Amino acid sequence: MLEVKQAKMMYGDLVAVDHLSFNIKPGEIFGLLGTNGAGKTTTFRMIMGLLEPTEGEVLFEGQNIGYHNVNEIGYMIEERSLLTKITVKELMLFFGQLKDMEPKVILERLDYWLNRFDIVSYKDKKIKELSKGNQQKIQFISALINNPKLLVLDEPFSGLDPINTELFVEVIRDFQERGCMVVFSSHQLDHVESFCEQIIILEKGKAVIEGKVSDIKKDFKKHKIRIVGDVDTALLSQIPGVYDVVNNANEIIVRIENEDVAAEVFAYVKTCNHISKYDVEQASLSEIFVEKVGRKNEEV
Ligand code: ATP
Repeated sequence: MLEVKQAKMMYGDLVAVDHLSFNIKPGEIFGLLGTNGAGKTTTFRMIMGLLEPTEGEVLFEGQNIGYHNVNEIGYMIEERSLLTKITVKELMLFFGQLKDMEPKVILERLDYWLNRFDIVSYKDKKIKELSKGNQQKIQFISALINNPKLLVLDEPFSGLDPINTELFVEVIRDFQERGCMVVFSSHQLDHVESFCEQIIILEKGKAVIEGKVSDIKKDFKKHKIRIVGDVDTALLSQIPGVYDVVNNANEIIVRIENEDVAAEVFAYVKTCNHISKYDVEQASLSEIFVEKVGRKNEEV
């Protein structure tokens, strides 16, 4: 298990992470989210043992985490920095040996991953000759090569096309199934929603939302209704508890304060013609994020 206990990190006078606590169990995928500068990378550095918290602690299997855990951790940092003048094979031998791996094992695993990511022909190519997306695959492979127990992925999907995103997701799911702990950050919240059970949303170093995605969505009372048909948006806006009505090209989105308001909206919609869709949905994680983090910023 990974335990982050009341971790605080200061850079001079700046509090980058403020008394943050969470646990990740084997086989769990944990999402660390937040706006730019919220403290995600700093938290990752503490988790990897690269930064010592100013206060609090990070425990890996009950012990303080540090460089001695390097063989059990795989990480992909946000800056896509790779040694670009050497070949894929040379790079992987370098990273693998930093993690005490035998060259023979590194090369066997490299063949497996190059095959799985469909880039076998790049093995002896220089990194700089690869496209951005393929460099990202190589960076991902360098995080996986030691079969880590803890996988730390800072924005793993940024810049990937949907097919490669799916490929990365499948690999992460495989690691989850074998009991790996995965912590990742992403700005693509809709994706996070379907991908991980537990999340923390950081704002200026503090957790503003935390817990199971399903509970967060349940606790957030606001809902939205999708309507397709001939409705009068001005009349909809006047219903008490309706706080937003958006007329999109092919549907109308009505945002309501709580589920009870849906009955009022439905009573009106029943009087309209040509209604082909009426769906009440929970707010998406992305909407909750904008609402909570946006409002927090207004209060400051
Ligand atoms: P992003 O999504 O933009 O990558 P982040 O959530 O990863 O942001 P951090 O990089 O952890 O955020 O930064 C948190 C805060 O700490 C920011 O205000 C940042 O300017 C500051 N910070 C980060 N690294 C340092 C450093 N080495 N020295 C001083 N301040 C730093």
